[in-house]
Amino acid sequence: MLTITGLSKTYANGVKALNDINLTVQKGMFGLLGPNGAGKSSLMRTIATLQQPDTGSIQFNGIDVLNDPQALRKTLGYLPQDFNVYPRVSAADLLDHLAVLKGFANKKQRKELVDGLLAHTNLYQHKDKAVSGFSGGMRQRFGIAQALLGDPDLLIVDEPTAGLDPEERNRFHNLLVSLGEQKVIILSTHIVDDVAELCPAMAVLAGGQIVQQGNPADLIAAL
Ligand code: ADP
Ligand code: ADP
Repeated sequence: MLTITGLSKTYANGVKALNDINLTVQKGMFGLLGPNGAGKSSLMRTIATLQQPDTGSIQFNGIDVLNDPQALRKTLGYLPQDFNVYPRVSAADLLDHLAVLKGFANKKQRKELVDGLLAHTNLYQHKDKAVSGFSGGMRQRFGIAQALLGDPDLLIVDEPTAGLDPEERNRFHNLLVSLGEQKVIILSTHIVDDVAELCPAMAVLAGGQIVQQGNPADLIAAL
């Protein structure tokens, strides 16, 4: 379970991106819905320990995230909004390299891990192709493959379907559903259908504040 208490952040330019965020997220898929500029990426980056808030606390499964970011990183998978590591190396080689950085030392185990993740994300038949040549949907599925290295208990995906066509978006939805309900998965998006189709629980973020929280059937009907 993820618990966020009193989280606030004002950037150096005076923009108050997060304004006293309080949020509890259980296992399964949680939708964070909000328009551009609402503060979604600021919140996702803060949970992912890539930036620090001015005040507040984040707890995840007994980890005091802001005081022990290393502990969280061991169990975190993150697909940032601006994920754009698309070098001209093959998908398999890039994922293998990222696995080395994650601490997987054994080459044979790594190959099994990499092949399994590429199969799960429907990229196995493209494993020898350069990631730079992938379509938008393939890149986002590759982004999930890299986020799943290390089998994280917390998975953060920030605006993953923006710019995908309906078919690729559907495939991406299926991939998220295939991850099951054992992880805490936070899906940030400005697309109502992402939340409506995938998330049993959600919150609406606007102007740096949680303005609604509950189940999508009720909240989206009221939008
Ligand atoms: P969202 O992901 O919902 O679009 P962001 O968290 O990216 O929202 O942005 C929230 C607000 O904070 C916006 O007004 C944005 O311009 C501002 N902002 C985001 N990042 C920074 C930054 N590094 N420095 C200054 N302002 C920022
Ligand atoms: P290709 O013919 O090169 O495999 P496709 O357009 O058939 O190109 O598929 C592009 C990618 O999407 C491939 O990685 C494929 O495995 C994957 N894919 C195809 N169908 C599905 C599906 N129903 N769900 C998820 N991924 C799929």
